[in-house]
Amino acid sequence: FIQLDTCWPPVSTMSVKVNSAFASVLLAFGLLLPCQLGLPTTTNQGDRLIVFVPTRQAQLDWLELIHSQAGKPGEVGENVRFWFGPGLLNQETIVFVPGGDYGRLVAAIPSSQDTYSWWTVQKENLGKLVTGETRRSSDISSAYRTYQEIGDDLPSKRIVWIDAGIHAREWIAPATALYFIDKIVQGYKSSDSTIKSMLDNFAFYIAPLLNPDGYVYSYTFTRERLWRKTRSAQAGGCYGVDLNRNFGYHWGGQGSSSDPCDENFRGSSAFSEPETRAVRDKLLAIRLRTISFITMHSYGQDWMVPYGYAYNVSVDNYAQMMRPVQAAADKLKSLGRNYDIGNSAVVTYPAAGASDDYAASIGVPYAHTIELPDTGQYRFLLPQSEIPRVGLETLEALKVYLGYIAAANQPRDE
Ligand SMILES: [Zn+2]
Repeated sequence: FIQLDTCWPPVSTMSVKVNSAFASVLLAFGLLLPCQLGLPTTTNQGDRLIVFVPTRQAQLDWLELIHSQAGKPGEVGENVRFWFGPGLLNQETIVFVPGGDYGRLVAAIPSSQDTYSWWTVQKENLGKLVTGETRRSSDISSAYRTYQEIGDDLPSKRIVWIDAGIHAREWIAPATALYFIDKIVQGYKSSDSTIKSMLDNFAFYIAPLLNPDGYVYSYTFTRERLWRKTRSAQAGGCYGVDLNRNFGYHWGGQGSSSDPCDENFRGSSAFSEPETRAVRDKLLAIRLRTISFITMHSYGQDWMVPYGYAYNVSVDNYAQMMRPVQAAADKLKSLGRNYDIGNSAVVTYPAAGASDDYAASIGVPYAHTIELPDTGQYRFLLPQSEIPRVGLETLEALKVYLGYIAAANQPRDE
């Protein structure tokens, strides 16, 4: 699970959250966003850069003196900013001088005892450069972007959570999550109106691989392609926890096992695993803004709603939650794919400690487990050639589903 809370270089502390198509990719692949560079916030006409190359100790001492005067009222160095240095003899020191301080600083520079000058004005007029900068471009990858464009997380946007790969062997799930990311980025760039409105309506938090250790183990063919759990060491010499039995809502109930060697081992306690704790902590942090929680599995072709911890327990808003699901299922059917929909215990089997139950229990209005194709021909071994079809039909279904939710849940005017 990927947190995106830091930036580089560490000039300032900036919490970066994610909502645009562009930034969704960053979330998915764990890249860091750059901080603002150390440019002055106000650059006026007459601002200059001076490059010093001290060749004598007295010159270096003077630079150190100016450096030490930063912020001291009335001193020559009060408003001078050192972008580089002062360092050693014969090394460049670069300082930014506001227009109003330029004359005073220049007058104070010790004169060179050599035949050559030890300083030069590098940019005669920085302010002119700044005001002349062009920052606009329609292509996201070839222009400097504003903070909002790069990743401001507008509080008015509701969050759609999508995760995949909580079970290692269900490879079509992370593949579909990546397909989704790829297509919404492309769609946004090419001004696809449905995708654009989707991204204007919702902020997407996408975790394409919730169980990386298990996935790596499954992906290594000499090991176990059909491995399901994590790879944490457990009592009795067995490995792994079924993360989708480890969440803390009715943990320990039906469909989960206390046996560390069992496929459905629920862990030693609720949230005993770092993967589930990461999901819990992020979900709790964004809980009030999260409108939809979707976790993608395979196989079965089911689109389900909580609760799954036992038979005959449904969320209070079951009927409301089912409406966009029905719309999505209708879309899938029109694309030649039949999905079963409904309460997850009924559609499949009771499974206590699952993530969608937890999401519903903390108040997320729509929570789903989606079992991607197929229905049993290939089971977990769905051929790679099926990725485009599954990806496309899931994307189309999610468009319909989210369009329905957007229409039914207009933001309230405060
Ligand atoms: Zn699964």
